[in-house]
Amino acid sequence: MMSLLKAETEFVCKVCGDIIRFNPEDPKTYLTKTQHEDFFGMRLVTYRVAHEVGKERHYNSIVVDDKNMFRGHRDAYSELIDEAALPSEWYWVFGEESPAVDTLTDIDMALLINRQDRWIVDIKCPKGLVVTELAHLLVSKIEEAERIYTTPPEYLEIVAANFTLNVWRSNVKCICIGSRNTKLKNALTQVAPLVIDSTDDFVPQRRVLALVLRLLMSRPDISLPIIKRILSSDMLFTSLKTPYQERIADIVARVSERLPIANEILGPILRGYTTLIELLEGQYLERCDEIFELIDYVNRRRLFE
Ligand SMILES: [Zn+2]
Repeated sequence: MMSLLKAETEFVCKVCGDIIRFNPEDPKTYLTKTQHEDFFGMRLVTYRVAHEVGKERHYNSIVVDDKNMFRGHRDAYSELIDEAALPSEWYWVFGEESPAVDTLTDIDMALLINRQDRWIVDIKCPKGLVVTELAHLLVSKIEEAERIYTTPPEYLEIVAANFTLNVWRSNVKCICIGSRNTKLKNALTQVAPLVIDSTDDFVPQRRVLALVLRLLMSRPDISLPIIKRILSSDMLFTSLKTPYQERIADIVARVSERLPIANEILGPILRGYTTLIELLEGQYLERCDEIFELIDYVNRRRLFE
């Protein structure tokens, strides 16, 4: 009998645009595999896959369904193969892979810096500034504070190139925000540790960090578990198009009796017309708790069995 499983999974490398193929059945073709609980009736798995191009190694984390079909990217980044060849002042800058952020009206500048792995996520930076130089300056001021204080504070106010930045630091990462919005600053005092203390090895996407900042501006009192979910969800960029298309109308009708938002968004999600990140970036950001409640509800009820 012919297997319906496609042996190879194909996707586009987010760093260079090359088509990458790997075999989910063959552990030699990927680095790590994370199985998820049944999600919308599908057995989704996140794989980390690497390939080499010249002197670089590109890493992609992608979500694949039980037919080995590519469902979406979680993250992607690039590393020099010979790290010793890196100049000591080197930083990787992330951010170019997604459109510039223009929704953060109250924020002049927002950077996430990893001092150990030497990368910067350029969430928002004014045109005409050299991000890597700015990072050097910020890191040197952080190191100065670390030398001066026996217990360096987690929060610092740093003036750099005419910007006053609110900086939250850990031993590895720091998040630097230029904004006069005091509600945002207070909210970030709670939220920043989720970002800078995380020991995950993935690089957060600019889009996701921008989304969190936007959410904190409109709902500074949003609960930390929701922020945590947005920051760590493998499913944000995943197409949740269900194989059970004929059951969508029925499922939407049943769920919306209990959760009205289902009427608006569950159909488009299950038909693969939209992803969670698109909903959150659009008009549904302030209703993110309703969206996650809906997803949990659909999963818990095992509506696709
Ligand atoms: Zn590549």
